[in-house]
Amino acid sequence: MILYNTLTRKKEEFKTHEEGKVRMYTCGPTVYHFAHIGNLRSYIMEDILEKYLAYTGYDVDRVMNITDVGHLSSDADTGEDKMLKGAKREKKTVMEIAKFYTDAFFADCEKLNIKVPDTVVPATSCIPEFIEMVQGLIDKGYAYLAGGNVYFDTSKLKEYYVFNDHDAEDLEVGVREGVEEDTNKRNKIDFVLWFTKSKFEDQELKWDSPWGVGYPGWHIECSAISLKHQGEYLDLHCGGIDNAFPHHTNEIAQSEAYIGHEWCPHWFHILHLNTNSGKMSKSKGEFLTVSLLEEKGYDPLVYRFFCLQSHYRKSLVFSWDSLDNAAQAYEKLLKKIAALDENDGELDEAVFNEYKAKFNEVMGNDLNTSLGVTALYDVLKAKTNGKTKLALLADYDRVLSLNLIEAAKKRKAPKEEVAADTDANDPRILDLIAQRAAAKKERNFAEADRIRDMLAAEGIILVDTPQGTTYKKA
Ligand code: AMP
Ligand code: ZN
Repeated sequence: MILYNTLTRKKEEFKTHEEGKVRMYTCGPTVYHFAHIGNLRSYIMEDILEKYLAYTGYDVDRVMNITDVGHLSSDADTGEDKMLKGAKREKKTVMEIAKFYTDAFFADCEKLNIKVPDTVVPATSCIPEFIEMVQGLIDKGYAYLAGGNVYFDTSKLKEYYVFNDHDAEDLEVGVREGVEEDTNKRNKIDFVLWFTKSKFEDQELKWDSPWGVGYPGWHIECSAISLKHQGEYLDLHCGGIDNAFPHHTNEIAQSEAYIGHEWCPHWFHILHLNTNSGKMSKSKGEFLTVSLLEEKGYDPLVYRFFCLQSHYRKSLVFSWDSLDNAAQAYEKLLKKIAALDENDGELDEAVFNEYKAKFNEVMGNDLNTSLGVTALYDVLKAKTNGKTKLALLADYDRVLSLNLIEAAKKRKAPKEEVAADTDANDPRILDLIAQRAAAKKERNFAEADRIRDMLAAEGIILVDTPQGTTYKKA
């Protein structure tokens, strides 16, 4: 497979340390809030990558952390702990918040057909490993104690900024706007490995350590968790592009200093999902969730389909109109698949292999999912029988995970259902449906919801489809 590597800034042949085996690490969510659909874009693309590697025959061992401690409100180590902020916001304990949002994250993953990684590790379950690694870094001369905290000494490295040719001055934490300089640091770009002193004394979760009672920095968790579960040679590390600096830069610094050799040769970063006003972000507070899409009548897999239509190395702008377009295209695709007959002919192996090779060609070229989706339409147009087409679509869907075959089966007879249920042409209801559609178009979701709820109270359930809204009796 050819895959772009952020570390070398090139597309290159993906290679592993051990033949046939991929050790893949994913930075998991910070569980102080719901994941937004931007976060989930990253997890969808990582899921596709994992499934595509497995599809081509690799045994993929994937590990993901859950950040339930240590991620402060800036990605550098300043500000309040995000988990604590979440707990205060909801008047719960940090562990209650972590459990609730971890469960919510996996529920979203399930709806989006994102496979749960083989190993999922909450940061709070690995405190002894973090302490051991921090002590190892002190012993090797890469870390120092100052003002109660343990810092990584970036001046000990030959190269710190591995991902970009940033102007070091611009990136120094101390000179960024709104960030106070930490005078304990020997170099402005040093980062915290273990805190015992913070301006935010009310940190809820603290552990004993050789340097006093405290808690780990954010970056150390991914290094230590990966080293614990995947050993010293990782093949592939993933995350959203905002993770490249400082998080992944710091992971590389401390992992390689600790083990004494190169740690992970391949880095896969997904570009952001943006809205018209910029990057979708949890800390801004205003963001879209999978539940919200569902409330508005969208199948979560429509969002997956929307993400697959563009390349992971391009930023993607979300709008309701483009989601509507994706919904219509997905529905049309399913209808076409529903029209195929699995009893039509015998599997034509030559055609099957020819089309499978075409799918590999595009997906194997830097995971081109938009051409992967186009390959589905090529199968539908192919000069072969229904059985072979269905076999190919099911085969591609092992990677794309759009529930193509199952969902298409449900599309076989939707109209009769509505007709059997109720009189589908009641003019008053049709008029209300039109009013609701107009309200939605004007983004007046409160009015649209009011009409839906009013009809629901009468026992009329609205069914949103890309072709418009129908209704049935509850
Ligand atoms: P967090 O829960 O903030 O630690 O982020 C979880 C993952 O989502 C990380 O890999 C981030 O890089 C990624 N991420 C954050 N915001 C976006 C966005 N707007 N679009 C795509 N990925 C994102
Ligand atoms: Zn990480």
